[in-house]
Amino acid sequence: MTDFTRLVRDVPDWPTPGIVYKDITPLLASPEGLAWAVDRMYEPFVGQHVDRVVGIESRGFIFGSAIARALGAGFVPVRKPGKLPRATRRCDYRLEYGTDALEMHVDALVEGERVLVVDDVLATGGTMAAACGLVAELGAEAIGATVLIRLAALDGAERVPVAVHAVLDA
Ligand code: AMP
Repeated sequence: MTDFTRLVRDVPDWPTPGIVYKDITPLLASPEGLAWAVDRMYEPFVGQHVDRVVGIESRGFIFGSAIARALGAGFVPVRKPGKLPRATRRCDYRLEYGTDALEMHVDALVEGERVLVVDDVLATGGTMAAACGLVAELGAEAIGATVLIRLAALDGAERVPVAVHAVLDA
């Protein structure tokens, strides 16, 4: 079988010194690689009655809509501040240095809906934890999270209130 992991390229010291950036664009550009990644990200959640897939801006959108389609679910974006046009709920969270924030439309989820949260990379887990927090604040239930790559050394999954499925550990 093809080793698709070689289509994820490590870019040292980008965007800042000390960060090894996971460049997934070669994987996305490969028809077989994209299918492999999407299939492995959603397979554990088949039959789990997922109502909505929440994708985190921006690479969570790429996988999220494909996963939503495959699971027969709807797609909901979680965006950087100021991007969504109507009333939003906001969650501020800490980064390694500084803070960031995510927003979701207040009416994006219906109380009790079962939600799968999607992103490309889990690093410190702050982004995924913030997205799960927004889901809970809107009264829905995050039943799981799925990522392509987990940076295992950072223990990011510890910060996330639901189990995180990862296709690759790096
Ligand atoms: P964190 O909140 O620390 O888990 O960071 C996760 C978010 O930052 C995800 O949306 C990723 O797209 C991005 N990210 C963090 N670290 C990396 C990395 N080494 N390579 C690519 N993306 C990253």
